[in-house]
Amino acid sequence: MNLILLGYPGSGKGTQSKSLSSKLGLIHLSTGDIFRDEIGKKTSLGMQVADYLAGGRLVPDKLVLEVIKSRLEKEDKGVLFDGFPRTVEQAEGLDGYFESKNKKLDAVIFIQLDENEVVGRLNSRRSCLKCGRIYNLVTNPPKTENTCDGCGDKLVMRGDDKPEVVRKRLMVFRDLTEPLIAYYKTNGMFFEINGNSSPEAITEAIITLLKNKIIKA
Ligand code: AMP
Repeated sequence: MNLILLGYPGSGKGTQSKSLSSKLGLIHLSTGDIFRDEIGKKTSLGMQVADYLAGGRLVPDKLVLEVIKSRLEKEDKGVLFDGFPRTVEQAEGLDGYFESKNKKLDAVIFIQLDENEVVGRLNSRRSCLKCGRIYNLVTNPPKTENTCDGCGDKLVMRGDDKPEVVRKRLMVFRDLTEPLIAYYKTNGMFFEINGNSSPEAITEAIITLLKNKIIKA
């Protein structure tokens, strides 16, 4: 099974992708995580993309597609895409790639959330750069202040979660990523999930949806 999770930054895609990929046995491919990892390691890819992430702008489609295709070449399991595609061009690139490999996309799930809620969530989001766990200071705080429950590393606020960059990311989402909804709505495998409940309830809702609509089919 190959799935795409779509949603505003801060809508819970990362959290959902982690639990869904482990429950469903899928490879979790987050382009944002890949880029942050490369930036942290100061690789040539990291250097190329750092300014885009810092400014909340999208990395050019050609580069994103190269990264995705080279990761997909190494995988034979199903994939859960998180934060990719972000433009219609990327979606077309993925379609072409799947077609050439005789593979297909099974579902696109859009996590619906109000923009005001998204801004609040990003403001209180903290991440562990070492193990990737994501916290929310209000709804899902760590047991010890500023410390990851999983690996004990210090929690940080992502540079692009600062209010001035968030505004830019939301604008980019509206301009470039929202058209994807129309793109995928035409192919009969687009589903919306309400992102305004607990992470566990959302995971459950997505799994039920997949069981009813995809796995059975
Ligand atoms: P995310 O962690 O998904 O919120 O992504 C963080 C940042 O990484 C974005 O604001 C973009 O700068 C970059 N990025 C991640 N995925 C993509 C993508 N599919 N296309 C272009 N830029 C991306």
